[in-house]
Amino acid sequence: MTQPPAAFLTAAKDLLGPKGWSEDPERLSEVSTPWRGTFTGETPFLARPASTAEAAALVKLCAAHHVAMTPQGGNTGLVDAGTPHGEIVVSMTRMNTVRSVDPFNNSLVIEAGAPLVTAQAAAEEAGRLFPLSLGSEGTATIGGLISTNAGGVNVLRYGMMRDLILGLEVVLPSGEVWDGLSGLRKNNTGYDLKHLFAGAEGTLGLITAATLKLFPQVQRASAWVCCDSTEDVVALLALVRQHAGDTVTSFEIIPVNAVDMVLTDVPGTRDPLPSALPWRVLMEVSMVDETHARAALEKALEAAFAQDLVKDGVVAASKAQAQSFWHIRETIPLSKRAYGTAINQDIAVPVSRIPAFIDSCNAAVLEIVPSAEFVIFGHVGDGNLHYSVCEPAEATAPVLKAHVAAITRIIFDQTMAHGGSISAEHGVGRLKRDELARIRPPAATEAMRAIKKALDPLGIMNPGRVVSV
Ligand SMILES: Cc1cc2nc3c(=O)[nH]c(=O)nc-3n(C[C@H](O)[C@H](O)[C@H](O)COP(=O)(O)OP(=O)(O)OC[C@H]3O[C@@H](n4cnc5c(N)ncnc54)[C@H](O)[C@@H]3O)c2cc1C
Repeated sequence: MTQPPAAFLTAAKDLLGPKGWSEDPERLSEVSTPWRGTFTGETPFLARPASTAEAAALVKLCAAHHVAMTPQGGNTGLVDAGTPHGEIVVSMTRMNTVRSVDPFNNSLVIEAGAPLVTAQAAAEEAGRLFPLSLGSEGTATIGGLISTNAGGVNVLRYGMMRDLILGLEVVLPSGEVWDGLSGLRKNNTGYDLKHLFAGAEGTLGLITAATLKLFPQVQRASAWVCCDSTEDVVALLALVRQHAGDTVTSFEIIPVNAVDMVLTDVPGTRDPLPSALPWRVLMEVSMVDETHARAALEKALEAAFAQDLVKDGVVAASKAQAQSFWHIRETIPLSKRAYGTAINQDIAVPVSRIPAFIDSCNAAVLEIVPSAEFVIFGHVGDGNLHYSVCEPAEATAPVLKAHVAAITRIIFDQTMAHGGSISAEHGVGRLKRDELARIRPPAATEAMRAIKKALDPLGIMNPGRVVSV
């Protein structure tokens, strides 16, 4: 790891003040290890700017001394994008305030280091909804969520993080500040710069604040149903939408083995509907009025029973019961870790191709590892599956580890063969950068490189992520 020049360190420490930096090895190790701990990096210096002016001055210093930086929020990213590999870390977590809320414009301005729960709470206090919701919402920050274009459980109705921003404030790699915090919904004045930074994983600039879209508050009706096949699950989604339209906010698929895994791993969890059927769907219909939401959901389910798409089902009688459904869904990733070796991929295919994708991908994997087990769950309403190939911890002759590369290749190739994407919502980082360079149309990779070079000619912003130049 190269140490930044002494002149840079002295100037950065002066600029940031005693609370704004650290060289403590324990702290540096913390910010070099992401939430999952599956990979670790290293950094010589942690900077924690407290304002846009400080952040801009810091980036100017980095540019002057050619010091590379990794912007960091909650460090919950899953693709090795926010973990430093020799760069200094610029943690945004001191910039965490809500600057303003405008309920009539349905917007709020919030700093990039605020966790998602802060945006949700500020919206709620104003009688509005900020709909992004995901398992890491207590820690993941607004800047990180924008930079990874995060998805979560409400994408079906509200879109991804990209769809939820009205404007941004960004420190460009030169240190210049772009104030694009407009709360406008219509603004056709050329390239829409905010979209460049959504999904850029910190490679084009340091986001310091964002204007987010708010929505009317809604009440949710939730159901847990059992299905016989993925074909039925896909047909069920179409049917529920036919009855409830855009009010279907979530539609999650859960395999029966994932429910069993969670029940074994998490004390106190209960299967809402014990059944040998292979698939569960957790769905939600959200409307301003709870009775209407429940009525729409029940009507849709009646039709689904009539068409034999659902064999058994329960509509949550209370918020607590709905939460117990979600608890099972949200605990799957952690329980899966306890289960044994797993190869996990976050992929998307068109919803209509989900059954064919699962059948052919599973068959191809089983040809290599006949003992493989599959835990396939996720945001099926968006065509987004978390596809995991597992080997139980108690396997007497474990073989999965020896086949990680081959199985990963199968999953990627099958995904592409079904018209999909090898990164649905987690991003690219260092993990999928080279694979994407292989499968993405060359013109797209070249355009990305050109953008990166134009905005960051010195290559100081999170180098080596998304696209190599
Ligand atoms: C339990 C769990 C559940 C999850 N569920 C989901 C899910 O359902 N859907 C989903 O999409 N993701 C999910 N994730 C992934 C993760 O939460 C997201 O990637 C999140 O958006 C990252 O936010 P962060 O603040 O932790 O960013 P970090 O991990 O710190 O950084 C992520 C990337 O953003 C960049 N970055 C961070 N802040 C800034 C900034 N201010 N300016 C410029 N660049 C910046 C970093 O350099 C890095 O490239 C989950 C993660 C966990 C641990």
